[in-house]
Amino acid sequence: MEDRKKTVGRFAPTPSGRMHLGNVFAALMAWLSVRSRGGELVLRMEDLDTQRTSEDFAAVLRSDLQWLGLDWDRETEPQSRRSEVYDRYFAKLEEMGLLYPCYCTRSQLHSVNAPHLSDGTYVYPGTCRDLKEPPAGRKPAWRVRVPDRVWRFHDLVQGDYALNLATECGDMVVRRADGVYVYQLAVTVDDGEAGVTEVVRGMDLLSSAPRQMYLQELLGFDHPTYAHVPMLLAPDGRRLSKRDRDLDLGVLRQRMTPEALIGSLAFAAGLIGKNEPISARELAGEFTWEKLRGDAIYLDGDSSFW
Ligand code: GLU
Repeated sequence: MEDRKKTVGRFAPTPSGRMHLGNVFAALMAWLSVRSRGGELVLRMEDLDTQRTSEDFAAVLRSDLQWLGLDWDRETEPQSRRSEVYDRYFAKLEEMGLLYPCYCTRSQLHSVNAPHLSDGTYVYPGTCRDLKEPPAGRKPAWRVRVPDRVWRFHDLVQGDYALNLATECGDMVVRRADGVYVYQLAVTVDDGEAGVTEVVRGMDLLSSAPRQMYLQELLGFDHPTYAHVPMLLAPDGRRLSKRDRDLDLGVLRQRMTPEALIGSLAFAAGLIGKNEPISARELAGEFTWEKLRGDAIYLDGDSSFW
């Protein structure tokens, strides 16, 4: 069926180092989904953390994407330059009466009183919700109240997903005490303003989707379609991360052609039946989301990556 609305996808890398295979896989899937339907791709540098990110890394990221054959149609402003835009949306939440200052210290937040979830995160118990006397001389973080309501959506890869923000997250920080806006707010505003209709990214961000859906609703943006792609696991079962220098693109670019790399990744993910070189463009011709399973992808020890 022809999409009535044009698909707008995005790459949203954090320029804090070289891409590893997991980042490449998520970027490849975002690209395939959009290009196989003649949509548009937006690139955005997520550099809110100015200590860890740099323009040099951003330049290398662009070059790596080009080397892979993953092109984009426009690049939007990096997050580090958009705090005035975020201020406007923050003011909107404030006008709705949904924000309150939170003075909790890190140790208070991690204390035994806060209910911890199985994934190691904690539920904010609302300590500062109705604070009568704020402590003097400390700058607060700002939280948005979340309703006791279940958010449901159908993920193109993971299937049906539901989360109640009140019981599994608690009121969310939108601006930190040092004035920096948090990822959830920035991403919602940036995707919304860029007209993004489809968010493809790693499975580790699945529980962020309902947080962003809540903010989309408050700030007046449509919900995009979500596809959270599986994590890639090394042969010993550990998750690939930026620390695995041997699998970052700096090393892989010297050892492999882009077609060999994409072919091996596509084969490991079950997108093609044989481990053989293929370009992203060729792969787009036969891409459908049904081909991708939701569970983690093992890169086996004999694969071309080692
Ligand atoms: N900037 C995030 C990352 O590099 C991705 C965020 C997103 O796709 O929403 O992992």
